[in-house]
Amino acid sequence: MVGQESTSCEQDGKSALVNNSMNGSAKLKRKSDTIDNSGELMDGVSCSDLFKNGDGLTYNDFIILPGYIDFSPGDVNLSSYITRGIKVNAPLVSSPMDTVTESEMAIAMALCGGIGIIHHNCTAEFQAAEVHKVKKYKHGFIRDPIVLSPQHTVRDVFEVKKNHGFSGTPITDTGKLGGKLLGIVTSRDIDFQEGSPDTTLDQVMTTNLVTANSGIKLSEANRIMENSKKGKLPIVNEKNELVALIARTDLKKARSYPFASKDGNKQLLVGAAIGTRDEDKERLDALVAAGVDVVILDSSQGNSIYQIDMIRHIKSKHPSLQVVAGNVVTTAQAKNLIDAGADGLRVGMGSGSICITQEVMAVGRAQATAVYSVARYAASRGIPVIGDGGIQSVGHIVKALALGASTVMMGSMLAGTTEAPGEYYFADGVRLKKYRGMGSLEAMERRDVGTKGTGGNKGGASAAMNRYFHSENDRLMVAQGVSGSIVDKGSVLRFLPYLESGLRHSLQDMGVRSLAELNSFMHAGKIRFEKRTTSAQLEGGVHGLYSYEKRLF
Ligand code: GDP
Ligand code: GDP
Ligand code: 5GP
Repeated sequence: MVGQESTSCEQDGKSALVNNSMNGSAKLKRKSDTIDNSGELMDGVSCSDLFKNGDGLTYNDFIILPGYIDFSPGDVNLSSYITRGIKVNAPLVSSPMDTVTESEMAIAMALCGGIGIIHHNCTAEFQAAEVHKVKKYKHGFIRDPIVLSPQHTVRDVFEVKKNHGFSGTPITDTGKLGGKLLGIVTSRDIDFQEGSPDTTLDQVMTTNLVTANSGIKLSEANRIMENSKKGKLPIVNEKNELVALIARTDLKKARSYPFASKDGNKQLLVGAAIGTRDEDKERLDALVAAGVDVVILDSSQGNSIYQIDMIRHIKSKHPSLQVVAGNVVTTAQAKNLIDAGADGLRVGMGSGSICITQEVMAVGRAQATAVYSVARYAASRGIPVIGDGGIQSVGHIVKALALGASTVMMGSMLAGTTEAPGEYYFADGVRLKKYRGMGSLEAMERRDVGTKGTGGNKGGASAAMNRYFHSENDRLMVAQGVSGSIVDKGSVLRFLPYLESGLRHSLQDMGVRSLAELNSFMHAGKIRFEKRTTSAQLEGGVHGLYSYEKRLF
């Protein structure tokens, strides 16, 4: 037994090395890192031994044994990778479902350190506009600011405010970026102008401007803006032509959400799902133009010629765009997609809360086994995996990560939040929101979920139909999901910090300081697992009480 354990540690150690290079090196030095080679003090089994007899395990079928604590939860680093090129500050991803992720959810997810993936059960225009809203939420340099000319009127500024939510507008001679900077109009210039909307902007604009020169570093530009006490700082070239703008509000946003997942220009990270049909190539171009950071190829069974062709198309047309392929649950599926160029994989088939694939198709895999098997292989190729579906608690997130997933994707956990599309309604006195599978008849027929929902696009094969391989010519759709409801969970801006805090405490219990360390310790056989009998699972839940209230945060 002891001999077997050390062999599997050795084998696993190889993949751990690969994974370290992906996530930054986690050094094995502290007291808690010492492996007891005699095996006498090694309770439980290594991860590879947990899965070695081939049973399909779910997250509830095992437990993780505690380690040694010599740090506080605040010291735990939750940063991880959604693809080999995109780092997030928390391993949390919202699912591309039309009752889960549009711009409001994606903004909240990124502000809290995760990332949202905008669904595609809508027109390409609607989806690209949602991506654009996320990218425009905050900036370092605003390189495409809305600009007006001196001949525009106060009414035009009110329009900008109504459509985009801000009024700080630089004025150039051409009314465009690149024109000579003449002034700026802000809310203070037009606050009392409601009665005279036809006033031209040359009469109200502020002309004594503090500006900075192009080429300036963001931190320096921020300092000039702070010292000037102005709300905006236009950036100009040597000919006084406007090249960019920075906004004081963005400094405040950065201070309020220091943990946000952002790109090099401090804009929030966002992803979008697409299908694999010809028309998705146009959708892809619109998403790239809107600034999307990562696309997810959305198929329930991703190991197909269609995905392989699409990955190749994306890599030749948009070489720097990151692509997540899937869904997959086996190493053979994973290999094909990684060989084709995938930068990340989405793992799960039939484990989602709204899903009936395993029941109807008899195809799929238990989620814990799927995550471990695919993540182990993908790590040997330097590719992170997303554990998608079946997450019902912080404990499930931890388990997915402990099995090798780099991030988790959630649908039902987020569907009842304020930021999810659709309106709340009451049933039996409980406040609910709709949540439906993308393979439900309702989603495939694209019945709207609320004011935002499917973006009003009807007719043609829906993205939900395409995900489940239906075409317009199929006479009968076979549902792979159901439609239901979820209890109000409040705002993601409160819920995600709860999940993150839970994760930090859990990693502390295991004695690991970061997700990179969790991954390498797991592969080295140092994270110990135990299977749970049915009665162990009952014991691990609340029991023996007449009544109780379960409040989580
Ligand atoms: P990072 O995590 O290394 O990117 O560091 P931060 O984003 O915390 O901050 C780096 C510098 O950029 C600091 O001077 C911040 O004040 C500034 N900064 C961060 N976010 C924004 C933003 O959205 N807009 C602007 N203008 N500055 C920002
Ligand atoms: P204002 O005072 O009404 O102009 O608005 P704020 O300065 O409070 O907010 C501006 C916010 O909108 C910042 O977070 C900007 O990053 C964002 N934003 C996005 N695009 C633009 C743009 O074209 N112009 C301006 N002024 N802000 C933009
Ligand atoms: P949840 O977090 O609710 O357990 O699962 C969400 C995941 O279920 C999604 O990210 C997606 O992979 C999967 N999914 C969404 N809709 C359907 C569906 O109708 N059928 C199936 N089989 N899976 C679905």
